[in-house]
Amino acid sequence: MRVALVTVGDELLAGDTVNTNAAWLGERLTERGATVERVTVVPDRIGEIARVVNEYRAEYDAVVVTGGLGPTHDDVTMDGVAAAFGREVTRSEEALAWLEEYGGYSHEDLAEGTADIPAGAEMLPNREGVAPGCVLGSVYVLPGVPDEMKTMFEAVADRFSGERRHVETVEADEPESALLTRIRDVRDRFDVKVGSYPGETVEIKLESTDETEVREAAAWLADRVEKPEKE
Ligand code: ATP
Ligand code: MG
Repeated sequence: MRVALVTVGDELLAGDTVNTNAAWLGERLTERGATVERVTVVPDRIGEIARVVNEYRAEYDAVVVTGGLGPTHDDVTMDGVAAAFGREVTRSEEALAWLEEYGGYSHEDLAEGTADIPAGAEMLPNREGVAPGCVLGSVYVLPGVPDEMKTMFEAVADRFSGERRHVETVEADEPESALLTRIRDVRDRFDVKVGSYPGETVEIKLESTDETEVREAAAWLADRVEKPEKE
């Protein structure tokens, strides 16, 4: 299952907030066997959100949008997603009922627009906060506040799946440029995807849906690289 992430917020683009939601969702979706193929950050603007959501829902199996829910003037994600589908946003009676029953909020307590979602969307209650999320077709709309986002994602996590990939990491205490031939060889010999991540040492990540293949590839490579000294 191929997934695109759309994270909404001017503060993400300005660098005021680190996009931890994208990193967390990338990890969780990958764990579940889904493949994240795009992460895009867009400003709090209806047109931009609508354009990207429309492009990605045509291209990917699912789109996960986070941020910009709620009733403040810069929270326009629901309007953007509704526009992508050519729909209106409407007050979700289900969200209001949920907030009354489980959140302890009466209708009067809630700011105008708090429970608005695109017409016809499935409402996702916000168990850590107030503003609901929603699902519309293959588009999942989640809050920006990380704890709210995580809890809401877990409620729909089983809708994201794919063939699980197995990963083995080999650490090499050599310059990356010196490893090129061995990296080529391991790719030639084994049916694995290889990533090379230089830092203090080089982490070579081997990945496959076949656990035996990836184990054998890692063992083969580990025998042929300089290992870092144990501290
Ligand atoms: P609320 O309903 O509380 O208004 P929201 O869904 O509207 O939440 P935002 O207004 O976009 O969310 O952001 C709320 C908080 O979450 C802000 O402090 C913001 O910086 C943070 N946040 C938003 N998006 C991300 C992200 N992608 N990664 C990490 N933090 C984020
Ligand atoms: Mg907000």
